[in-house]
Amino acid sequence: MVGLTRPTGAGDIIPPVTSEAWGSQPTSSTSGVSPSAALRHILLWASRRGQIKRAVTSAPVTRDVVRRFVAGETIEDAVAVTRALTGEGLTVSLDHLGEDTLDARTARAAVAAYCSLAGRLADEGLAPMAEMSVKLSAVGQALDESLALDNARLICEAARAAGSSVTIDMEDHTTTDSTLRVVSLIRQDFPSTGAVLQASLHRTADDCRALGVPGSRVRLCKGAYQEPASLAWQRPDDIRHAYLRCLSILIGGSALPMAATHDPKLVEATGRLVSDIGGPGFRHEYQMLFGIRPDEQRRLVAARETVRVYVPFGVQWYGYLMRRMAERPANTALFLRALVSRN
Ligand SMILES: Cc1cc2nc3c(=O)[nH]c(=O)nc-3n(C[C@H](O)[C@H](O)[C@H](O)COP(=O)(O)OP(=O)(O)OC[C@H]3O[C@@H](n4cnc5c(N)ncnc54)[C@H](O)[C@@H]3O)c2cc1C
Repeated sequence: MVGLTRPTGAGDIIPPVTSEAWGSQPTSSTSGVSPSAALRHILLWASRRGQIKRAVTSAPVTRDVVRRFVAGETIEDAVAVTRALTGEGLTVSLDHLGEDTLDARTARAAVAAYCSLAGRLADEGLAPMAEMSVKLSAVGQALDESLALDNARLICEAARAAGSSVTIDMEDHTTTDSTLRVVSLIRQDFPSTGAVLQASLHRTADDCRALGVPGSRVRLCKGAYQEPASLAWQRPDDIRHAYLRCLSILIGGSALPMAATHDPKLVEATGRLVSDIGGPGFRHEYQMLFGIRPDEQRRLVAARETVRVYVPFGVQWYGYLMRRMAERPANTALFLRALVSRN
């Protein structure tokens, strides 16, 4: 068994999961230029190259691959995928692609896209099964936090009028405090708004205590961004321990935890923790990305679990895929593995 730096805290329930049970994971090299760092540079470079983008987006094979992970470019594409998924008993969270908005006009366009989407979901009778995921960076967070707050409120209003709801995505650690502030203000008027916490950050156990209160919808993920070792667990086993500890806190606080992971060991452990700590009928859901482990999504639905599929759509899919892969080497592995396996 490899040595584990197990994050602990008085009073928290630490589930009995060992590194053997999870299987050992390679860690990235710490000297010289690691393969993952080199890959990241290549992907980020490629994400900015217009010629590469044109070549990638026009190749027929790419379109098929992209369609595995992105619903399409239009609201109608998003609605069609939502209809198909909800027809199979899944629920959905729709993400209009676009982030790092640096002008108010683009932020307004993102708000308008979400408001139109909410209207279409209502028209189609899909709103109760489909929420919307919003990145504050897409609605102006980098320009001004209060602009992002106002814009997010407009989307929440449209969602409520449609009979849907919103979860505010979490981005890199420089935005965590701002995002949690905005979520807390939004929840004063829209209490069902979901928050996202990233288990890999050291601070997250405390954030789980703050947000782990009855009725609070909290998506718990590992975290998609490459964060410094001073702020975040780096080794896969440490991240998993932190994940389960955070999940235990959320369940113990009677929040509504939304376990966003494809990791088979974490999916299995979630079921165990929910039944051990939450007890029978405890409300929770599983969340996975569109195109990743689709057979597992359906297996959970057949086992009467609530499963929400995160469905990105919009014209900015190229940057989304490239940056998601560049942000964390594990994300590249996630997409590549999904291409060769359905479960
Ligand atoms: C619904 C959803 C919403 C998210 N929202 C956010 C957000 O707001 N902010 C954020 O920072 N991040 C978000 N993420 C991303 C998340 O933080 C992780 O980067 C991402 O999910 C990868 O971690 P993982 O736990 O899924 O598994 P990984 O760490 O990628 O994989 C762990 C293990 O799972 C197994 N595995 C993975 N894929 C497969 C497969 N196809 N078949 C079989 N086994 C497989 C392998 O054993 C692998 O070692 C979200 C993820 C989801 C699912």
